[in-house]
Amino acid sequence: MKIVLATQNPGKISEIQALIPANIQVVTARECGIVEDIPETGDTLEINAIQKAEFLFKKTGLPSLADDTGLEVEHLNGAPGVYSARYAGEAKDNNANMDKLLLELKDVKNRKARFRTVLAWATADGTKIFEGVIEGNIAQQRMVGSYGFGYDPIFIPNGHQRSFAQMLPSEKSSMSHRGRALDNWMRGGLNAH
Ligand code: IMP
Repeated sequence: MKIVLATQNPGKISEIQALIPANIQVVTARECGIVEDIPETGDTLEINAIQKAEFLFKKTGLPSLADDTGLEVEHLNGAPGVYSARYAGEAKDNNANMDKLLLELKDVKNRKARFRTVLAWATADGTKIFEGVIEGNIAQQRMVGSYGFGYDPIFIPNGHQRSFAQMLPSEKSSMSHRGRALDNWMRGGLNAH
């Protein structure tokens, strides 16, 4: 079986590819010749994931998997959430996003946050969604490591002292929002297809 990933984010692509069973051939949108930006204009993770997966399914005819992820900070009433990529502006700059969040939480005691991933799976049978969540805290400052991407240097999952950026990809995925959403998809989407 061949499926297409509706993401151009290299961090997401490598995490997803590492978890998908070897008998599934995974191609990226770019490998299918799609170089334009995949539309994502909704105001929820669910709408964006569905929009991306259905766009690629229509373009390629292949079962399509899309990932939309947000960092939801309790003190900020769930922000940046669906706007996580553009939190500090259209440049989608990870460092600027982390700086802005650390400033918003300066001297704030409640640092609770969660990552939430919504996967949309578009096939000839229609579109299904699957969710994964990991609870944790925003660090006082970057805890830089050799791994991860995006907000990983400032997210410490509950029960751990290290940020996601300080964990091997396999350790991060064993507990992460994306790992859990992919588990749900493998049980309810991929294998049901
Ligand atoms: P999007 O789902 O591609 O719109 O990503 C939303 C934002 O969250 C971007 O700034 C990503 O870099 C960031 N992001 C997505 N997944 C992760 C993750 O697993 N760890 C850290 N940051 C992430």
